Amino acid sequence: MTELLYQKDSYMRKFEAKILEIKDNSILLDRTVFHPLSGGLDSDKGIIRYGCVEYNVAQAYIEGEDNVWHVLEVRPEVCVGEVVEGVINWERRYKLMKLHTASHILSSIMFNRYGALITGGHIDVFHAKDDFNLESSERSIFEEVVEETNKVIRKCLDVKIYFLDREKALNIPGIVKLAQRMPPNVKFLRIVEIPGIDIQADGGPHVKNTCEIGEIVLERVENKGKGRKRIYYKLKE
Ligand SMILES: [Zn+2]
Repeated sequence: MTELLYQKDSYMRKFEAKILEIKDNSILLDRTVFHPLSGGLDSDKGIIRYGCVEYNVAQAYIEGEDNVWHVLEVRPEVCVGEVVEGVINWERRYKLMKLHTASHILSSIMFNRYGALITGGHIDVFHAKDDFNLESSERSIFEEVVEETNKVIRKCLDVKIYFLDREKALNIPGIVKLAQRMPPNVKFLRIVEIPGIDIQADGGPHVKNTCEIGEIVLERVENKGKGRKRIYYKLKE
């Protein structure tokens, strides 16, 4: 079981951890700052240091509910029980955090204005893509939503992250935005709240204040069929 350090502090870049298991090029750690590929968010990259040897982390993935495996580019010369140091690629992670918080704002505006639910999505370092169950694929709708999202971003709202009792949390309307992303079967759920805008159970890293995002730009809209519209947006350079 891996302690997910990034869930308590999205700004932590470095950590020390003990190796729990080794499988080919991958190591399982008892704690990590690496956000694994999950919840529609790309995996972090970075390095794992053992003594004076550095291993590139190509990807981190989650197995079961909380075992985070770190896939290294080469097979590491380490043993179970040893302590390693990890450092994430912060530049990359910070972009993911900005787009992630922006996606929460955007999907809540889509819902409040058009009743459109988010049905899937993925964020990588270049852009965010989100699918909405919306009939219209008129670009003007999405342009307006992006503009509204930027207005919220400019309000410099503090993003609150806290843990709530599962029962209590699941009673909050709209707390689970995506049916297939039901939160893990744990006693406490991690809640991400952008006051007055959005509240949801969410496991990923976010910025502390919406102003950090800067601005987002609509890239394109794709019509994926009846009631399925996909939009791509990115951070303004
Ligand atoms: Zn999220």
